[in-house]
Amino acid sequence: MNPIAKRLLSAASKYPDVTAYRTSMRSVSYSELFGIADRLSTDLNLKGTSPVIIKSRKTPETAACIIACVLSGRAYVPVAPDIPAVRLDTVISRTGSELMFDDGSFISVTKSSDTPDDTFEDTAYIIFTSGSTGIPKGVPISYGNLDNFITWISGLCPLESYRNTAVFNHASFSFDLSVAAMYYAWCGGHTLVDADTNVLSDYTGILDIFGKACVEVAVMTPTFANLCLLDRSFCAAVLPSLRCIYFCGEQLTVRTVERLWAAFPDLRIINAYGPTEATSAVCAANITPDMLTKPYLPIGTANGNAVDISVENGEIVLRGASVFRGYLGEEKAGCDANRYRTGDLGYTEGGYLYCTGRIDDQVKYKGYRIELSDIENNLNLIPGVRQSAVTAVRDVQGQVRYLKAFIAAEALETEAIRAALKETLPEYMIPKIITVTDKLPVTVNGKTDRKALT
Ligand code: AMP
Repeated sequence: MNPIAKRLLSAASKYPDVTAYRTSMRSVSYSELFGIADRLSTDLNLKGTSPVIIKSRKTPETAACIIACVLSGRAYVPVAPDIPAVRLDTVISRTGSELMFDDGSFISVTKSSDTPDDTFEDTAYIIFTSGSTGIPKGVPISYGNLDNFITWISGLCPLESYRNTAVFNHASFSFDLSVAAMYYAWCGGHTLVDADTNVLSDYTGILDIFGKACVEVAVMTPTFANLCLLDRSFCAAVLPSLRCIYFCGEQLTVRTVERLWAAFPDLRIINAYGPTEATSAVCAANITPDMLTKPYLPIGTANGNAVDISVENGEIVLRGASVFRGYLGEEKAGCDANRYRTGDLGYTEGGYLYCTGRIDDQVKYKGYRIELSDIENNLNLIPGVRQSAVTAVRDVQGQVRYLKAFIAAEALETEAIRAALKETLPEYMIPKIITVTDKLPVTVNGKTDRKALT
């Protein structure tokens, strides 16, 4: 039995009556959730060995399917419910999947003929991220990677001190922030309180769940916290049980922390850092008031990290048990001798690690990781588009406000471009502003002059 299955079964046997999963619609105890998982495992074992694609609808059945995959030693591939068909085809061909879990039941998908030979025996899950070539990259995470991550997060101060508590998650299961909330909760006998997709457009709904479930720990992106802060009832007087927020996935700003402490004076704030390639997060810093005088908040400390962290030529480099083995179908690509170069710019000072930005054109927008060249390559496939460039428009704090595309094309309406892009890219990757021109400005070296694009 893999180590994650052992951890999950141990929590389920210790806390059968504790609520394991709760949405605005339904609550299920550990014994009920694992009962559903058991039935799904029986089904799974009859249906081949290839990775299972799971459309990440927020229901107890989806949660149980994830658990069923882990218990059966079957890799799962969480994807957004509205994943464009072209991206889903890539996922199917890269993973060799023959089975998809959607809306509570398994359906067969046609296995692609150009599937790489990979058994996925030791793979817990595969998350697809934006790829600079225009094709998403599959990141396989092994049971060993995940086990190392769970040991780290379960021992992290102050998360290690909570007992059978309510842990809030808003992230889609296809985003690895949810890995932190899910495995911290289910391996520790906590209740995972999940924001259903439809609740996300309705903030009173979120605060309602928060309050009713007495959420004590929330796992969030800073973008999500900023949205919550727009509502005045996101404060200690209305939500007295909230003790700790674990942030990860993008830069946490001093401004957001100041606003949070104004609303929740005793809140513990963890700023965790890590890429999907190193299993959700590898280090974290507990934020204290004296840190707010610096331009950046620390993302980690010198000790107690999930992996070895070094800064080499200004770039954060990770090495160790949480680091993946390489992208799907390109074994070793992206990772050499268990050493992953993150592309994040960093430095250490006074025993803390800081992240200041990116070496390349990867951005975080609304918490989502996007390679701008992924959008450009998909734009370039649209008939009539000769050339394209995508830029990120940032606010004074450096956060991406929206994406802008410049396209060299003839006789193409922006709405037609938008519609064509929707066929291949998820909604959050569609630039808000699309400008069509005759030609893009070029530098003396003949490259697109991005600085001239405004
Ligand atoms: P993802 O693979 O979607 O989890 O995105 C990983 C990337 O998000 C990292 O390589 C960083 O660029 C960024 N990131 C994650 N956590 C933080 C953080 N606490 N501060 C700054 N950037 C972060």
